Amino acid sequence: MKSSSLMQKMLLQLAAHMMEMVASSTKKNQNSKRLYTYCTAFAYFIESRYEKLKILKQGDNGAAKIIRKKTLNEQAEYRLSLYIYLFAENDRYLIRHLLTCEITELTETEMQAVQQIQKAPVPYSFIKENGLEQLAEKRYIVETSYNELKQYQQTVFLLKTMAGSKKGLGSYTILPTTGCNARCVYCYEEGYAVRTMTIETADRLIDFICETKHDDAVKLRWFGGEPTAASHIIRHICKGLQERNVPFKSSMVTNASLITKELAHEMQELWHLQKVQVSLDGAKEDYTIRKNYFNPEKHNYDVVMQAVQFLLDEGIHVQLRVNVDFDNLERMPAFIQEMQERFSGAEHLTMYIVPLYQAEQSDRCIEVYKEIFRLTDMQREIGIPQSEKAKDKTHTAHLKLNFCMADNLKKSIVITPDGIFNNCEHLPEKNTWGNIFDGITSQEKYKELCTTPEIDKACAECPFLPECTPFHKKGCPGYFKKCREYRCLRTEYVLHRLLQAVNIESDDVDEEI
Ligand code: SF4
Ligand code: SF4
Repeated sequence: MKSSSLMQKMLLQLAAHMMEMVASSTKKNQNSKRLYTYCTAFAYFIESRYEKLKILKQGDNGAAKIIRKKTLNEQAEYRLSLYIYLFAENDRYLIRHLLTCEITELTETEMQAVQQIQKAPVPYSFIKENGLEQLAEKRYIVETSYNELKQYQQTVFLLKTMAGSKKGLGSYTILPTTGCNARCVYCYEEGYAVRTMTIETADRLIDFICETKHDDAVKLRWFGGEPTAASHIIRHICKGLQERNVPFKSSMVTNASLITKELAHEMQELWHLQKVQVSLDGAKEDYTIRKNYFNPEKHNYDVVMQAVQFLLDEGIHVQLRVNVDFDNLERMPAFIQEMQERFSGAEHLTMYIVPLYQAEQSDRCIEVYKEIFRLTDMQREIGIPQSEKAKDKTHTAHLKLNFCMADNLKKSIVITPDGIFNNCEHLPEKNTWGNIFDGITSQEKYKELCTTPEIDKACAECPFLPECTPFHKKGCPGYFKKCREYRCLRTEYVLHRLLQAVNIESDDVDEEI
């Protein structure tokens, strides 16, 4: 062994050993977190100096360090990791690790060797002869006895522990009302009783935030119904927090039809609104039918377009979320063009296209997704980014530690107009375990919700588990039958675009607002 690679091995082992010591320590405080970060950075520095692989996209450094193999077992047999996706196009070959999120380019010979391993396990000598040691060290190739599901769960647990040393809640999703001035034909809240928060409940909510928040600025997410239909409640809560010197920033999901120039200004000044997600349905004719406003004279497509401009003028990031299905797809290209013309040059406008729940659940959902990818290419080409992250050409991918808020109960909470806790705005309130007046009323329910549910058998064998959710068992509407087929399609799309030097987020674009 050359002395330089011996030195590399020793330095890497030292960093990995220190990380293990910190990780296994029972005291997870700020110092251990800092030490862990230094070790990770140190190992990364050493590794990058000796890296032989052609990394096309950096992955999650923390996850990579945790799963890295320090020394290869020369007696073992090796197979391909479950969390691997192989891709070939125009004589270029990629391998993507779905747990570390790293994407590496292979030579044709390396790809052939990897494909050979895919067919049947191989001895260590095969790894060595084909120069695949680094792929094995980075767990693209693993020992046949390696328990990857366990490693995945431990990695998530460890990264969550290291990330979550702050005490208290950081994010509050608040429903000031369940009422709405629209009657979207697809709304899942249809039939829900309309309730609006009272001033008394809002006062208690201000106290509750002060009692439960962690030290830094908290994040408020306004959701509904239509949250601006109860703007007096939002105003009251924001003023209350300001009077108590609680630093906060906020985001909102809205149809935007009630936003005037004055309100947009207040949203920026008093509500500290940084990001607004505006739900649209494509072209004006589709929007009018689908939103089905109670008062279309006052609330309509043109008013919403004007509101988007007011928000952009205030420097607020507007994310247009465009819902599509088979009926409005064909008018989407003209709609995208219209958005470009209306808001050309807007610095803080992004747009992403999603299938409606019904289309996603249908047998033809893959067709809809293919169309969405085509439309997404079009919007990018005419200059409307999908997300803020997508604007960053160098951004690296991260392992999802929390798929959603229901998976992050100790840091984030949903509060209904009556002050009742819920773990997800999409799930029925019967999941509640308490309220802002009495705190936790059912320890049993709380514990059950805090415990990560057992992973379904199909998911446990699925390569996409690290980027997916184990929640569908609990009634998550985000789950759909063709989930795996969709993930394949999406991965191929990301890798195809990467080869064209377009840095697409490897995660879903439906980022949390
Ligand atoms: S929900 Fe579907 S895509 Fe996700 S891990 Fe389970 S089987 Fe795989
Ligand atoms: S709908 Fe599913 S994925 Fe979304 S927040 Fe609720 S439980 Fe999580």
